[in-house]
Amino acid sequence: MLPSQDEPVKNETESSVGGVSQYDVIIVGGGAAGVGVAIALTHAGVENFLLVDRNEIGSSFASWPDETRFITPSFPSNSIGMLDLNSIAVGVSPAFSMRVEHPTGSEFAKHLQDLSTFFELPIQENTDVVNIEKKDGLFHLVTDDETLLATNVIWAAGEYQYPGAGRFTGSEFCRHTSTIPNYEGLEGDEFQIIGGYESGFDAAYHLAKRGKKVKLFDKDSPWSETSSDPSVSLSTFSFERMRDQRFEENVELFPETLISSVSLTDGIYEITTQDGQTFQSKEQPLLASGFEGSHKFVSHLFEMREDGFPVLTDNDESTTVPGMFLSGPAVRHGSLIFCFIFKYRQRFGIVAQAIASSLDIPTEEFIDAYRSWGMYLDDLSCCGQECLTC
Ligand SMILES: Cc1cc2nc3c(=O)[nH]c(=O)nc-3n(C[C@H](O)[C@H](O)[C@H](O)COP(=O)(O)OP(=O)(O)OC[C@H]3O[C@@H](n4cnc5c(N)ncnc54)[C@H](O)[C@@H]3O)c2cc1C
Repeated sequence: MLPSQDEPVKNETESSVGGVSQYDVIIVGGGAAGVGVAIALTHAGVENFLLVDRNEIGSSFASWPDETRFITPSFPSNSIGMLDLNSIAVGVSPAFSMRVEHPTGSEFAKHLQDLSTFFELPIQENTDVVNIEKKDGLFHLVTDDETLLATNVIWAAGEYQYPGAGRFTGSEFCRHTSTIPNYEGLEGDEFQIIGGYESGFDAAYHLAKRGKKVKLFDKDSPWSETSSDPSVSLSTFSFERMRDQRFEENVELFPETLISSVSLTDGIYEITTQDGQTFQSKEQPLLASGFEGSHKFVSHLFEMREDGFPVLTDNDESTTVPGMFLSGPAVRHGSLIFCFIFKYRQRFGIVAQAIASSLDIPTEEFIDAYRSWGMYLDDLSCCGQECLTC
């Protein structure tokens, strides 16, 4: 049953086996996906669950560079039944509660913490899940100091804390943008950035605003993509930034330029491209080539697609280990990529409904409510359509 926002559901039915707590569901990861799917579980009437995080709720967002902001805008459109693009829960609008259109990571982390408090989510922080096995019908989640038991697991551990290393020789000489606390503190005048999608553009923009010269390399050319899918081409926010005078003056774009190696000799970094060009700088090259993703950590519990993402059932459940669910940006169905909040939140209702049904909880009212808010996407044929040009 859907509670009103002033009547949060509490976790009152935790059971125990041999003194060890046993949950119907454990969610691993307290980011946008974990908190969002936890709220969906409460709305679906699931009570005996636990949300664990190795740090604190929203910690990935909290560790974004200080200057980095959401590229997707928030707007309080809920009043006409269109959920705020950055909302993770039915009836919630970050624009309304924060009065910010493009929140910083810290602001959004605080928003997630506020939601967790408001919905009285059962949370256990500072709990690092180091292994998961399914034995005799129960998942055993080994953490740094105990083993938790659950009938179902929702893996929502995200990507940000699992950065990609870069697929070229000498990538260890580069610094991943996810390790930068702020661009203001980066010393030097000339930077080379490998990866020209959102993170690379964000880094280039903030450095250029400070008068630094930037060379931005990408093996493709995301800024020339004509797709209307922001998982493929750059966001409107980044296109606007590209037209900023400081960006135009200071950033040099290198499309279709594959990096083959980076070396460090006598304090000088040298980038070599596959077509034989070389570029030197005193500053450490920045790596913005994406994330390995936490789904690799649980690859033994999923069949894997050729592209390395888990194969999922229609309920975002593992095809090989029943009860193991995936939530968040690693969800893929065919060619559909659910890597933004407004995309993957549409699957929270699907996962919550599947688990509630398995616990014999009636879900008709839940499905109707979630579907009406665009949070119960069960017909994927509607997605992936290009916008009409005009
Ligand atoms: C620079 C940047 C800008 C972005 N801008 C936007 C945007 O404008 N709009 C948008 O929709 N998306 C944006 N994204 C993507 C967005 O950040 C991700 O979709 C989102 O963070 C994914 O949420 P998540 O809950 O899956 O993962 P996270 O937010 O990373 O949360 C995962 C949580 O799991 C915890 N965890 C990880 N491993 C374990 C473990 N083994 N045990 C216990 N806990 C664990 C972590 O501590 C973390 O709190 C952006 C991403 C980046 C990097």
